[in-house]
Amino acid sequence: MVKATGGDCNRHGNALEASNGEASRLLWLINPWGNIEAITLGHIILARDCATAARLRSHEHTHVRQYERWGVIFPFAYLASSAMAVIKGGDAYRDNVFERAAFAAQRADVQADAKATTRAPPVQPRPEHLNDLH
Ligand SMILES: [Zn+2]
Repeated sequence: MVKATGGDCNRHGNALEASNGEASRLLWLINPWGNIEAITLGHIILARDCATAARLRSHEHTHVRQYERWGVIFPFAYLASSAMAVIKGGDAYRDNVFERAAFAAQRADVQADAKATTRAPPVQPRPEHLNDLH
């Protein structure tokens, strides 16, 4: 259905990532007042577009693992965590324990990418050492 509406669908790990087309329209239907970039429903990740799906992959895949761990009670546990966060004076989204874990994974992924791009290029063997490589 997503591909038929101009969307993209790709499998990453054990999740299906749908973006653009009908996927972005579904995001709007889920919350027409908010600015949802992506949402995870079990093993399906809906993202606004492919770039967003890639940028939020580690975050959303953390939610996939949370769904796997908690099963059908995950949505209730998620809402309970939001309620507890609000009761404690925090933010329902940012202070939710499931979101905190997902944001931690996202930060770790960004830091790993930054290290990978700043890593020095591999040392090329000098011609006099090429004979040592047999
Ligand atoms: Zn999240």
